[in-house]
Amino acid sequence: MLNCNCIFCKIIGGEIPSAKVYEDDLMLVFKDIEPKAKVHLLAVPKTHFALLSQADAEGKEMLWHILEKIPGVASQNGCGNGYRLVINQGEDAGQTVHHLHVHILGGETLGW
Ligand code: AMP
Ligand code: ZN
Repeated sequence: MLNCNCIFCKIIGGEIPSAKVYEDDLMLVFKDIEPKAKVHLLAVPKTHFALLSQADAEGKEMLWHILEKIPGVASQNGCGNGYRLVINQGEDAGQTVHHLHVHILGGETLGW
């Protein structure tokens, strides 16, 4: 069930536009609006939960599916030479959107 106050649920539902690069029944990948690298994509599950610790069986299935799809999506979007995955979890990590998302960063040599 989509959470109507969540910006990523609104993107999944098509209420807010996004630059989509991949979509299937379980997940969506779109370009980050404030890229921190030459290529900066966000991969999101189509169910709403904020933290890995909150994933139910459906969420876990989606997460595993996302991890299986990322290599192909990354290489097709300019990250064939490598990329970094980041999942911010909670306040100390600076998580600002409370819908679980995997940052895919690449397209250049990354520093810290
Ligand atoms: P985090 O700090 O891990 O919660 O990351 C949230 C990310 O979502 C940030 O990198 C934002 O730039 C990105 N973001 C927020 N709103 C949008 C949007 N409407 N479209 C694309 N990316 C967004
Ligand atoms: Zn959501």
